[in-house]
Amino acid sequence: MTEKKTGKLFVLSGPSGAGKGTLREHALKNIANLVYSVSCTTRQPREGETDGIEYKFISREKFKEGISQNLFLEYAHVHEDFYGTLKQDVMNELNAGKNVLLEIDVQGALQVKAKMPEALLVFVDVPSVDELERRLRKRDTESESSLSVRLKNAIIEREQKDKYDYVIVNDDLDRASEELKKIFMKS
Ligand code: 5GP
Repeated sequence: MTEKKTGKLFVLSGPSGAGKGTLREHALKNIANLVYSVSCTTRQPREGETDGIEYKFISREKFKEGISQNLFLEYAHVHEDFYGTLKQDVMNELNAGKNVLLEIDVQGALQVKAKMPEALLVFVDVPSVDELERRLRKRDTESESSLSVRLKNAIIEREQKDKYDYVIVNDDLDRASEELKKIFMKS
């Protein structure tokens, strides 16, 4: 009997506005056998977001129930809402031999690394905080107060990047995407 090979776990983090979402989409399109694990969140869906696609949108009560039942591989309180990855979702894919990609914040990524040291952590960085502010303003999805929370969080998140296996500076999307692909392929 041949032993079934389990997949690998990849974690992407970085300041919101660093382009993680786009890099993730490129990776999912260009790398075979890579699947995305959809997170749970208590935040409201943005325009165009669909439950079960970008996130599983759940109530705070349901999220807290999940915490007390130990259902999360990791979870964190980010920008005033809860976000978390369900253990079962990840394990099902890994056990089916799929490589799994998480796109989560730094607190969550470090929890994953503590529980699963074999997980590969990649930090997607911006060239500078000024550049990040420019990008977030251009995106125009945030209120002024939410923008300022995101910038403050970005500064805190960047202080943790040394704990990651790799740091990619997203100064050019195609280049960064290629770099990410190489990292995934050799791991
Ligand atoms: P957004 O609200 O802009 O979609 O995401 C806000 C932040 O939450 C991003 O930094 C994103 O990576 C993070 N995030 C999304 N899903 C999860 C998750 O399951 N766990 C953790 N810890 N962070 C998450």
